[in-house]
Amino acid sequence: MTDCIFCKIASGEIPAEIVHDNDGVVVFRDLNPQAPTHLLAIPRQHIATINDLEPDHAELVGKLYLAAKAVAADEGLAERGYRTVMNCGEEAGQTVFHIHLHILGGRPMQWPPG
Ligand code: 5GP
Ligand code: ZN
Repeated sequence: MTDCIFCKIASGEIPAEIVHDNDGVVVFRDLNPQAPTHLLAIPRQHIATINDLEPDHAELVGKLYLAAKAVAADEGLAERGYRTVMNCGEEAGQTVFHIHLHILGGRPMQWPPG
């Protein structure tokens, strides 16, 4: 997708602090962090929302979580814990329509979310 900011981050057209790039998944630091560690894991492939997932994407979605596990360990969060969130659609607060798994940690998290 030519007008998608996360496709542009994955291609290097827009700069980002990339911490992991492996097997079709890119992880970079959120521009507006909501916790001491706030990373976004995206597939290189453009998929707009969870609603656009197909059975063929199952392995790729699994890889997002494996990347989250790896970067959380790199950030020293594996033992203390961290939150993963994927917003879907307007009411959930999705603002970038290229699926992304938020990885948040480094402070206690509240539940329920806002
Ligand atoms: P959403 O609200 O769609 O779940 O999350 C989008 C996230 O992308 C937000 O946390 C926002 O700060 C982040 N974001 C938006 N534009 C950029 C950008 O150009 N670079 C980076 N690194 N993060 C971005
Ligand atoms: Zn995209």
